[in-house]
Formats: sequence, C-alpha cells, structure tokens
Amino acid sequence: MDDAHGFGVLGPRGEGSLGHFGLAFHPRLILMGTLGKAAGVAGAFVAGSETVVEYLAQKARSYIFTTGAPPALAFALYRSVDLIATDGARRQRLLDRIGRLRDGLAGLPWPLLPSLTAIQPLLVGENQAVLDLSQALWERGLWVPAIRPPTVPKGMARLRISLSAAHSEADVDRLVAALQELA
Ligand SMILES: *Cc1c(COP(=O)(O)O)cnc(C)c1O
Repeated sequence: MDDAHGFGVLGPRGEGSLGHFGLAFHPRLILMGTLGKAAGVAGAFVAGSETVVEYLAQKARSYIFTTGAPPALAFALYRSVDLIATDGARRQRLLDRIGRLRDGLAGLPWPLLPSLTAIQPLLVGENQAVLDLSQALWERGLWVPAIRPPTVPKGMARLRISLSAAHSEADVDRLVAALQELA
C-alpha cells in the first residue's frame, strides 16, 4: 500500500489509511509512505515483515546506491512523528481547509476528484489546458502544479492542489477566487 497521501493525515492519530479504516497492521502488508509530505522532511519508508524489510535492504538498487539519511533529518522526523501523533489541531485545521476548498470549487466546470487528504486533484482533461491553467495561477502568485500522463491516465491531466495546515482560510479563498475567475 502506497500511503503517501494518507500517512500523517488520515486516522485518529495520523496513522494513515489503516487507521482511517480501523485496520491493524498485518505481516502480509507492505506499507510504504513518503516522509516528504505530511512529515515535512524527506525520504520515505517501507514497513513490512522482517523478511520483506531485509530483502529490500539487501536488494533494492535505489536503497543500496543512495546516501543514508543524515542524523539531523532523522531527528527532525522523530519530532514530526511525535507532532503527527499528538497534534490533532493541525489535522483539524487541514480538514477545515480541505472542506473550504471543496465547497468553494463545487460549481466549477472541472470536477474535484474524491479525496479526503491534503492532495486535491482538479480534473481538467487535456494537457495543454491544464498547463495553461497552472501558468495562469502562477501569474497570480499561486503555485499549483499540472500533473499529466504518464503519471495519470491519458486525457485525465489535472491540477494537483496540495493543502497544508499552514494555509490560512484567506489562502484557500484566494485560490478559489482565481479558479472561478479563470473558469
Ligand atoms: C509524493 C508521492 C510519492 C513519492 O514521494 P517522494 O518522497 O516525494 O518521492 C509516492 N507515491 C505517491 C502516491 C505520492 O503522491
């Protein structure tokens, strides 16, 4: 399970999708997540049975041929994980921003795909249209990347709106107003 979007966001203590669905970890599960999104640092993790983890440590090219994470990063992550587990207020603020964005964009010609997480995909369709939209937002001081095939299926290019608990209500309103204008 690639829980890049769920880790730190979903579940009562930010456990991710497993916490959201009330599931326990299972030895047959291979769970991976990035540490560069909700955790705010860099790198990623794979959690699994000892056999899986040992296999990856010995065989995964991208793991073997990369420099290990520096101790400062590991320490920052230690603090991030602590904040994720204990600071429900940040998670609540993020949920508020997500709700505000989804309400604000409800009437647009481009549908927002279902998402409970900080990543809110606005489906535009054609590559050039999404590039133009992303550029127009950039010119208005809003950085919303265009995601195109092969990252997503052909004809399903989209804006990837990434919210954070650090965004204010005014930030969200600004994006909503810009997209309404551009629509
Ligand atoms: C961001 C992302 C990744 C990769 O995360 P990085 O640590 O930034 O390389 C992997 N899978 C999904 C679904 C993502 O959204």
